Amino acid sequence: MVIIGAGECGGRAALTLRDLGYEGPVTLVGDEPHLPYERPPLSKEAMTSEAPLIKAIASDELLAERSIRHIHSARAVAIDRAAHVVRLSDGSSLAYDKLLLATGSAPRKLPMPGLGGRCVYLRTFNDALAIRAHLSAGNRVAIIGGGFIGLELAASARKLGATVTVLEAQPRILMRGVPAEIAEIIHKAHETEGVKVLTGQGIAAIADNGVEVLVTLADGNEVVADLAVIGIGAVPVTALAAEAGLAIDNGIAVDGTLRTDDPDIFAAGDCCSFPLGVYGGRRVRLEAWRNAQEQGALAAKNMLGANEAHAAVPWFWSDQYGLTLQIAGLSDEGRSTVRRDLDDGAFILFHLADDGRLVAASGIGPGNAVARDIRLAEMLIAKRASPAPEALGSQAVKLKSLLAA
Ligand code: FAD
Ligand code: NAP
Repeated sequence: MVIIGAGECGGRAALTLRDLGYEGPVTLVGDEPHLPYERPPLSKEAMTSEAPLIKAIASDELLAERSIRHIHSARAVAIDRAAHVVRLSDGSSLAYDKLLLATGSAPRKLPMPGLGGRCVYLRTFNDALAIRAHLSAGNRVAIIGGGFIGLELAASARKLGATVTVLEAQPRILMRGVPAEIAEIIHKAHETEGVKVLTGQGIAAIADNGVEVLVTLADGNEVVADLAVIGIGAVPVTALAAEAGLAIDNGIAVDGTLRTDDPDIFAAGDCCSFPLGVYGGRRVRLEAWRNAQEQGALAAKNMLGANEAHAAVPWFWSDQYGLTLQIAGLSDEGRSTVRRDLDDGAFILFHLADDGRLVAASGIGPGNAVARDIRLAEMLIAKRASPAPEALGSQAVKLKSLLAA
């Protein structure tokens, strides 16, 4: 069993192969110098904690104990499908019976001249270390992109006393996948914490002289910063698969069991697109921590012959200041919305399809305020339930009772 990509998904897949009792060789190949590690802390605790600790998914001891060979700092550069061999950047080769591609996604690059060493992206622990060095009190940070990376990093930078400006090209932040009502609360929280959030602002030019960065906006205004962090989305890492002739469709295309069009090659996590059973087989690609974990585990199972289809409801969260946002399901499947108010100003928006089916739930509130109800909503979505809108909207009706119904 060979796994390419030692991230969330690849790491989980390797451990699951052993959990399931597989006793043959397992090799995990990653191009980063680290043990497999968690990425969510990179925009959060890794920025604000006293020491920038890496949160490993598996220690050296655990990998040794489970007989998982981890080859780090090496890139898979080619797959010879006929010979069942992967070639690595260090010149070595690995034979496989089953291969998992868990190559993740990479920051979308800003196609603009003038970007130097003070214009950076955040994807890896090493990126986080480089950014952290610039987040001290009084330093000026320009964040290009009002998505998750940009906003979580803005919250961390403010915690450290930096001066932060967020530049979002769209008319509002979190345009894709987050309802306007919730985005507005997050926008206000940033302003309250002293972040300058400029929406509807295209960028005309960037000049990086190595000491500071000058961002010229489409309206002619300028933002001067010590560092510019670019968070304008992510693209799936598919070159290895494409060069091997595997089908690509907004990611490495797999079937419901995460198998590519080569029966011995699987793909999972951020890098793949797959048919989502809960939404009638709609092909999606998810960039979320829990999906990477679930698909890593499922891919391992299917590499051992289980032939089981991915059936999970998508779910992700984001922490900014004391607020936690959680979304279960695909909100763009919804045609109408019902609001349920919870304690402490928290609330959930239930998204219903034309036929009344619950297709998603988006919640926001302090700490864990929405966690339990979002979990129940997720179960209702999985059941393809069509609860009465009045019941969803009433705090007096327990969601658990709707599930039992
Ligand atoms: P990755 O974690 O990207 O791992 C892929 C690995 O494969 C990388 O190490 C890559 O370098 C390596 N690789 C690629 N090609 C090759 C090759 N040819 N040879 C060898 N190695 C290769 N999600 C949430 O739900 N909530 C959050 O709060 C959240 N916060 C996040 C914060 C940050 C800063 C980032 C970057 C992501 C966050 N995410 C969050 C998203 C989540 O971390 C990802 O969805 C998850 O890491 C995807 O796991 P993966 O294993 O598919 O890909
Ligand atoms: P993102 O959430 O897709 O947000 C990128 C934002 O930048 C979008 O609003 C995008 O608008 C905007 N944008 C695009 N081009 C721009 C431009 N030229 N100028 C200004 N704004 C522009 O992606 P991200 O925040 O970069 O995150 C990258 C990856 O990390 C994703 O995989 C994400 O899931 C992951 N991540 C997740 C979390 C979480 O789930 N909590 C936290 C951090 C990171 P358009 O919609 O128009 O493109």
